[in-house]
Amino acid sequence: MTTIRQLQRVIQAAPTSDGAGVKLYRSIGKERGLYLDPFLMLDEFGSENPGDYIAGFPAHPHRGFETVTYMLDGRMQHRDHLGNVGDLGPGSVQWMTAGRGVIHSEMPLQENGRMRGFQLWLNLPAKEKMQPAAWRDIPADEMVLHDLPDGGQIKVIAGSARVGDRLVDGVINPSSARLSTDPVFWDVHLPAGASFSQSINDGYTALVYSYEGSVSVDGRPLPKRAAGVLTNAGDLQVSAGYEPARFIVLAGRPIEEPVVQYGPFVMNTREQIEQAMQDYRDGVLTAAA
Ligand code: MN
Repeated sequence: MTTIRQLQRVIQAAPTSDGAGVKLYRSIGKERGLYLDPFLMLDEFGSENPGDYIAGFPAHPHRGFETVTYMLDGRMQHRDHLGNVGDLGPGSVQWMTAGRGVIHSEMPLQENGRMRGFQLWLNLPAKEKMQPAAWRDIPADEMVLHDLPDGGQIKVIAGSARVGDRLVDGVINPSSARLSTDPVFWDVHLPAGASFSQSINDGYTALVYSYEGSVSVDGRPLPKRAAGVLTNAGDLQVSAGYEPARFIVLAGRPIEEPVVQYGPFVMNTREQIEQAMQDYRDGVLTAAA
């Protein structure tokens, strides 16, 4: 008999703001220490009002983890200390490994209209925190929506997923990357009443976050705009209710190391955080070791 992952905890997203005043909803990471190893933070941003996003995220640093930005609507531009420029349009993903250090800005490329998407912070194990910075911009057309046999569609951004008889690999997958957290990131669209099931490695942290409509996880309701944390073994089973639903699924191998965070720096000890702040002040945060 197959075990089904249960809904263990619901972390409702709270409205907050970040950057130069971008309004967003934060679930994972909304309170100090509210991590879901290996996930440090999950933000959903979404507004038709330019006043909620126009200020963007001017130049700021990161060290010790990865940021994953998934755009649903609108356009953002990334610029970093090495002169890289990346335009993020609807449906695209930027997977940035801050590693030892990145200084970048994330600014809207539009003055009006809808801006909507997610930013996920994914931790790195101690041995990978000081690797050189890397990033990958994945255009929307590299991540098609696959029709699911029981209705609905799936976009596989990271990890792999079973679609009928096939296994579909995301652009970020264990063979394409050196990510020891082995992340899974799916965007799933279900028509009203449809169900979705999928296996996830036992022992991996997994969560479901609905951004349109509400869903139920193995029969238990999960409201919109909340991270539903699942028990750590068995298959995932999610159903849409009377309305269509759209949700993301995140999963990954836990790191099981101490987490010490100070804003955009996430390390294992206080000393390493002080070093990061010192390196930033000295202008060597991003310098090669
Ligand atoms: Mn950033």
